[in-house]
Amino acid sequence: MLVLEAKLRGKTEQYTLIDEAIRTALFCRNKALRYWMDNRGVDKYDLNKQMAVLAKEFEFAKQLNSQARQSSAERVWSGISRFFDNCKKKKSGKKGYPKFKKRGHSERQLKKLQRKAVKTARCVVRSNDLIAYEDLHVRNMVKNHKLAKSISDASWSMFRQWVEYFGKVFGKVTVAVPPHYTSQNCSNCGKQVLKTLSQRTHHCLHCGTVLDRDHNAALNILAIGLNRVGHTQIYACGEFDLCQVDGVRPQYNTVIRQQQETHTD
Ligand SMILES: [Zn+2]
Repeated sequence: MLVLEAKLRGKTEQYTLIDEAIRTALFCRNKALRYWMDNRGVDKYDLNKQMAVLAKEFEFAKQLNSQARQSSAERVWSGISRFFDNCKKKKSGKKGYPKFKKRGHSERQLKKLQRKAVKTARCVVRSNDLIAYEDLHVRNMVKNHKLAKSISDASWSMFRQWVEYFGKVFGKVTVAVPPHYTSQNCSNCGKQVLKTLSQRTHHCLHCGTVLDRDHNAALNILAIGLNRVGHTQIYACGEFDLCQVDGVRPQYNTVIRQQQETHTD
């Protein structure tokens, strides 16, 4: 069997349809396996016929085209024949008895990612008094094909939401700053130093500052964030005024910056 993998770009409704099709194919696969387990002497043709039975029995199975249903049955059969082969060859260890497949591997990954985002966000907020980050419009960024590959819309939005949430919980200030020119301006002298996306080092011709591109941008973001909080006393998500806490100047030391650059800077 030839398995082709492709990367798709589609609309939300299209992804929903694909997700449904995958779930139905999984249902067909598991049903075919059940049929093989419950009936002696079943061969691959019987499994194929079973797919037509499922289409009659379940309306949603009928929605999946017949080729996709057949392919589910074929997958089960290839697992079964591999198991028989291993038994015949008296392969040592596990013989690979076919198992039912659970839904939602692409979901478990997401949950794992969510847990990681929560942990990191909590840690970042707890250990700093102010968190400044670029107010990125990921949708616009994704329109740029060069960036689309590397940007995870979901993970960034999720991370940002958790940072803002923990900001409220722990009484820390979180502030989103406009992303414009954060990469192009020199964090030391403020002059513009144009660079392409592939230039990873900021080298200022005006004052001689040499910094990693992201480090330079992070310093700019921090400066804008501090400026916003300090002068306008907008405490985006924080619940108290940092500038007046016991007259002590808090430590501002964190800036979150997404690794990828925006096309606007
Ligand atoms: Zn400079």
